[in-house]
Amino acid sequence: MRFVVSSDLLLLLLISFLLQHVHICLTFTDNNRLYYAKEFLHRFGYIKTNDSSLEISPPAVKAFQRFIGLNQTGIIDELTWQKMREPRCGNKDLRRIQRRKRYILQGSRWPSNEPLTFRIVKYPTTFPQQFVDTELTKALKLWSSASSLEFEHRKLKKQDALKASNLDHKTDIRISFEIGDHGDTEPFDGPGNVLGHAFFPQYGGDAHFDNDEYWTMKSTDGVNLFQVAAHEFGHSLGLEHSNKPDAIMAPFFKGYTSNFSLQEDDIRAIQALYGGKPSKSFSSPLSNSIETFQPASKQMAPSVKSSNKVTSLCQDPQFDAIIIIDDDTYIFKDHLVYRRSKSSLDTEYPKPIRDVFGRWEGGIWQTIPDKIDTALTWPNQQIFFFKGKHYWKTIRFQLQTGYPRLIQDGFRGLDEHHFFTGHLNAAFVYSGDNHTYFIKDAMIWRLHMNLEFSSSIDIDYPQFASRWLNIGEKITSAIQWINGLTYFFSHKYYYRYDHIHQQRLPEKW
Ligand SMILES: [Zn+2]
Ligand SMILES: [Zn+2]
Repeated sequence: MRFVVSSDLLLLLLISFLLQHVHICLTFTDNNRLYYAKEFLHRFGYIKTNDSSLEISPPAVKAFQRFIGLNQTGIIDELTWQKMREPRCGNKDLRRIQRRKRYILQGSRWPSNEPLTFRIVKYPTTFPQQFVDTELTKALKLWSSASSLEFEHRKLKKQDALKASNLDHKTDIRISFEIGDHGDTEPFDGPGNVLGHAFFPQYGGDAHFDNDEYWTMKSTDGVNLFQVAAHEFGHSLGLEHSNKPDAIMAPFFKGYTSNFSLQEDDIRAIQALYGGKPSKSFSSPLSNSIETFQPASKQMAPSVKSSNKVTSLCQDPQFDAIIIIDDDTYIFKDHLVYRRSKSSLDTEYPKPIRDVFGRWEGGIWQTIPDKIDTALTWPNQQIFFFKGKHYWKTIRFQLQTGYPRLIQDGFRGLDEHHFFTGHLNAAFVYSGDNHTYFIKDAMIWRLHMNLEFSSSIDIDYPQFASRWLNIGEKITSAIQWINGLTYFFSHKYYYRYDHIHQQRLPEKW
């Protein structure tokens, strides 16, 4: 009897095991398919390490299915398998799973003060050169017509071949058609599947195309060079793969499209990195501030003299924090605060922070510290100032009692367990959803409910800030300004986010 019971138990255990691992049983019939699928998921960033087993974890399959908009079954079903066989770009879809550290270091952006140069270093063997020139130029034009970017073709006359290596050295984006293993650890695979790949700006921006493809133009036969080039150049400019299926930056080749053009998602991405066409006029609190503050800080020059190392805001537009009180914008830099009034030039500022924000307590003037990390404006004139692991709160200029406090006490979850170690870069209420966000280096956290003490960090966070914002730059400050838009500041640039950007809000992967 005992024996029977334990054998039943074994059977039960076996069934439950099979139910739990049913994906293995369903797909194990085709080892080749499983092998290929696993290679695919590893190659494109969905599996971290590729062991020799033929087992694929359902979350990895689901991540791929989610990225391309298929049902998240977690198994290599027919649709998923078909998608894996389609021609596509060789760049990874989810790079940070594999290369978190490199990704954090990556700035993904070209300086935008000069035209970017490109050169076709190696032409394809089966496509006329002059058409390669026109198709690739056309592809770059898609990106320049939607942004502040400009491109310059570095073309070499035949007799100058010897100068080529010298010229290559000075060219930003080098384009070549390559076969198989071509020296960058990402060998091409012959006709079909991978069509090309490209490097992000920090890795040189070069674009490689598989010379084994049947490259064509204006034809449904073969692979359309213009379309694939437009995609690869997106990487060269700093864009990642998009999970919007109609975007140029979606990883799969969609076949020849006669009216091929950038989609909304592509335009938002390129403009987040390089801004729109310069003719478009748009205002920023910072750019206005610099103009406004110039005379003021000149007037204040004598008082700044005492500390020579401190540069004024107009000498160096980098600042520590930005807040709003009574519709006036206050900008903090070192020990000074600057004011930009809504309507008038403010000659009273800058002032020492300690003269503006504080409170009398027992005959002593208590104040917020100098050189704060960042600050946050909440409704009802509540202002939070952050420095290190502590924060101070004022109502308008009045410092509240009981501060400083630990950040992790007031905003639960912003602690070591959630990868926060102090010294925030930015804190802001995002105009898209009115949640509060905190940025530190590459990470972004979201507060669940905008309440001090009763709030905690959302469980889906932290996420990578560059992915959330689609900005490769490190964000140093952010604010929802009085026009209701959210502005992000990096060292030299600012980015304005309008409400359209709500749609690209936190995408999980
Ligand atoms: Zn790609
Ligand atoms: Zn390559």
